Amino acid sequence: MTIRKFQMLVDGAWIDAASGRTYESRYPATGEVWSVLPDADEADADRAVRAADAAFRSAAWRGLTATARGKLLRRLGDLVAENAGELAELETQDNGKLIRETRGQLAYLPEFFHYCGGLADKLEGSTLPIDKADMMAFTIHEPLGVVAAIIPWNSPLYLTAIKLAPALAAGNTLVIKPSEHASASILRFAALVEEAGFPAGVVNVVTGLGPSAGAALTRHPLVRRIAFTGGPATARHVIRASAENFAKLSLELGGKSANIVFDDADLESAVNGAVAGIYAASGQSCVAGSRLLVQDGIYDRFVAALTERMARIRIGDPLDPASDMGPMATEHQLGVVETMVDRAREEGAEVLAGGKRHAGRHAGSGGWYYEPTLLACESDQMDVVQNEVFGPVAALMRFRTDAEALALANGTQYALASGVWTRDIGRAHRFVRDVHAGIVWVNTYRAVSAMAPIGGYGASGYGREGGIHSVLDYTELKTVWINLSEQPMGDPFVMR
Ligand code: NAP
Repeated sequence: MTIRKFQMLVDGAWIDAASGRTYESRYPATGEVWSVLPDADEADADRAVRAADAAFRSAAWRGLTATARGKLLRRLGDLVAENAGELAELETQDNGKLIRETRGQLAYLPEFFHYCGGLADKLEGSTLPIDKADMMAFTIHEPLGVVAAIIPWNSPLYLTAIKLAPALAAGNTLVIKPSEHASASILRFAALVEEAGFPAGVVNVVTGLGPSAGAALTRHPLVRRIAFTGGPATARHVIRASAENFAKLSLELGGKSANIVFDDADLESAVNGAVAGIYAASGQSCVAGSRLLVQDGIYDRFVAALTERMARIRIGDPLDPASDMGPMATEHQLGVVETMVDRAREEGAEVLAGGKRHAGRHAGSGGWYYEPTLLACESDQMDVVQNEVFGPVAALMRFRTDAEALALANGTQYALASGVWTRDIGRAHRFVRDVHAGIVWVNTYRAVSAMAPIGGYGASGYGREGGIHSVLDYTELKTVWINLSEQPMGDPFVMR
């Protein structure tokens, strides 16, 4: 395999790390090194943030009307569409995600830029019907400044787009820190940002390790907003970093989402929904439906149909469009999956399918594959029921009543997503109302849109990405008071 060398983008220049250090990224299907990237540290993060701050204050960026910013974003969306094939292949090479999945995401990705580009010149403030004679007051939405975007390895471009598009629409500038395991597609995307005509320094990318480059970025005094996607443990570091610079935060963390199948569900749809929820993307999805709660009356038929469908999942090279499931993105993640399944066995889980590594198509070459796995769990206190695996492992539980289903669904620290499979509209609405989750899918799963907010609460984080409000979330609200009176201002020792 020819090893590719990448540079990072700071202030419009493609550069190496100041230290000259690099790190290697491996192709998850074989474990082989395929690229070498700059290993940025505090000095590089500082340079990038200063460049983004200077760009934020520059006439080249501030002088653009919101309409002009919107046009740049729409041009960027068009360029992403034109280069979708190359971007998808880079991403699959880097994180081992199925080419069908990355192509699917890339086919949709331009929508984020077109949607937010359209919103750029629609951020209207309000004139306040103020209750004081001779006063006028109104509000203005202002950009915040430098945004630090911290991206995980599982969907790098999608999770970049959902931050960058609203941040730029609102007039901010960015420094992006991709995961060390999946930076290549973001670096290629950054070249498209340049090509679209955004001024130098408006978008910067520093590649490097989380505890060095990521930490330096999130605590930098000039950073005003941190948009973080990743796990809860890293999120705690990020929250502490924001105590230094008071940056506003959005945290999109993991989940232990319940996919709830009732007796009256359409069996074929529910089975496909279960597979989509936990085996698509090899379970490396924040919204993975990793808990399958199935009602007593349909349980046996559901398990039979699901295990039959699982047996037909084609595990193989993620670059092969015929594959249904690829490898884990990192060797570490493969180890996490193995450890959690072993612990589940020790805690009494019955392995109904899978439960071990898989050779993939590159047998003997060290690819990081794991079989689609179904674990029947008796207790909701088991580790695999309570904690995120981030792999193709479903914890299956049986319930009898709606109340039992709801108690199980709401019984973890997470609250990101949930699926409800029923043909009873009243029951569907009761669950929509009562389930603790930022997203509820009824008779579908993993549907996304630029127009639909995504995010959770509890250990799943806070803040929402996507939708109209995501653009407002990258603004500060300024209130302006104007004294219309012809009289001089009176007593300075009382409030107006
Ligand atoms: P992670 O380990 O938390 O890493 C996320 C990002 O943070 C990476 O860029 C990482 O860099 C960086 N990082 C690590 N330590 C840091 C520090 N001290 N300061 C600042 N940044 C730091 O998460 P991951 O393993 O990449 O991704 C999987 C997690 O993300 C899962 O929990 C998943 O559920 C969650 N996720 C959530 C959503 C959502 O929308 N809710 C979407 C996707 C993923 P390095 O990779 O270089 O260490």
